[in-house]
Amino acid sequence: MRRFYCLCGNEVGFHDHYCKHCGRDLAFDPQIGTMWSGELIAQDHFFAHSANRGKAVKFRPCAQRFSAIGCNWLLLNEDEHCQCIACRSSRVIPDQSIQRNINRWYRLEQAKRQLFQTLLDLQLFNAAQPAVFQDLRFDFLEDRRSNPNLQLEHVLTGHYDGLITLNAAEADEGFLHTMKEQMRERYRTLLGHFRHEIGHYFWLKFFTTEAQKRQFRSVFGDERDDYAHALERYYQQGNNNHWRSRFITPYASSHPHEDWAETWAHYLHIVDTLQTAQSYGISIYEPQEHNFNRWFVEWARVAQIMNALNRSMGLAEPYPFKLSEIVVGKLHFIDEVIQEYAQRQTNNAAATEKPLADTVASWTKS
Ligand SMILES: [Zn+2]
Ligand SMILES: [Zn+2]
Ligand SMILES: [Zn+2]
Repeated sequence: MRRFYCLCGNEVGFHDHYCKHCGRDLAFDPQIGTMWSGELIAQDHFFAHSANRGKAVKFRPCAQRFSAIGCNWLLLNEDEHCQCIACRSSRVIPDQSIQRNINRWYRLEQAKRQLFQTLLDLQLFNAAQPAVFQDLRFDFLEDRRSNPNLQLEHVLTGHYDGLITLNAAEADEGFLHTMKEQMRERYRTLLGHFRHEIGHYFWLKFFTTEAQKRQFRSVFGDERDDYAHALERYYQQGNNNHWRSRFITPYASSHPHEDWAETWAHYLHIVDTLQTAQSYGISIYEPQEHNFNRWFVEWARVAQIMNALNRSMGLAEPYPFKLSEIVVGKLHFIDEVIQEYAQRQTNNAAATEKPLADTVASWTKS
């Protein structure tokens, strides 16, 4: 995450509504990835104060700014919607007449906006062309484990054709921790769920031609293998050590689709965390001159610092991963695919689809 500042110079948070130093209202503009400080007039106008004296830019705030989730994003004046690109992707939200669901929804939407911010930064989304990703929807559901009044026994977190379903209880620290223990996972966060599931969504965007799918299979294996059977087999066998040399997590070993989503989520963890490290001067990596190998070496250094800082506080290591060469190769593949896709988005060249084959680097030889 980048750092954001009010016009008065005070540093402000990504989800903040107003500057605690000068009192100006704040709003995030997803089109240019900037935090504006200015003045909110009633519920439908936000006047952003420009650094150029006397100039003010008019926006509309997201309608969810005034609900429990307190979204601080802006939308285009000509946008026909009243909610920003992040909020309006939620199709089902947890029942707000139940007190604990208010905080759950708040945390779910915060995680979603952080996810969207990374996707915007990677140029996978273009906030000025929201129609491009209007097929993306989120259902935040509950089941009997967190709400005994419901019939549904288990909400299955997952993705199907642009619809991402998440168990709203994952927004509770306690539930998340219990699930992490039960599943014997080394890392489990709400943001991690979002990052994993959006990976499945982008798989459908990236791999549309046979040539592209062949490239995918050469790295991750054949995704046409029976998915239900593979997952059943994985849960029956449990967590063993066979995955370590080839996969980023045990779950990634269950099926090529899950391997992709787990590795993709990991890629987004690195992108966001390294950006934070850079914005605080811990890393000198320059994303404008992107080079995968340099990027990855820098990440290893930053992860080491991050773990050491946490150990000093008596906390568990936030980055408990050891990546094999094969897993690094998969991350490299994802890096190449993202660069290529972002370039295509930028060029608005959907009509000139070409296979990824030419652009994938030599690491595929192993
Ligand atoms: Zn200020
Ligand atoms: Zn919003
Ligand atoms: Zn998955």
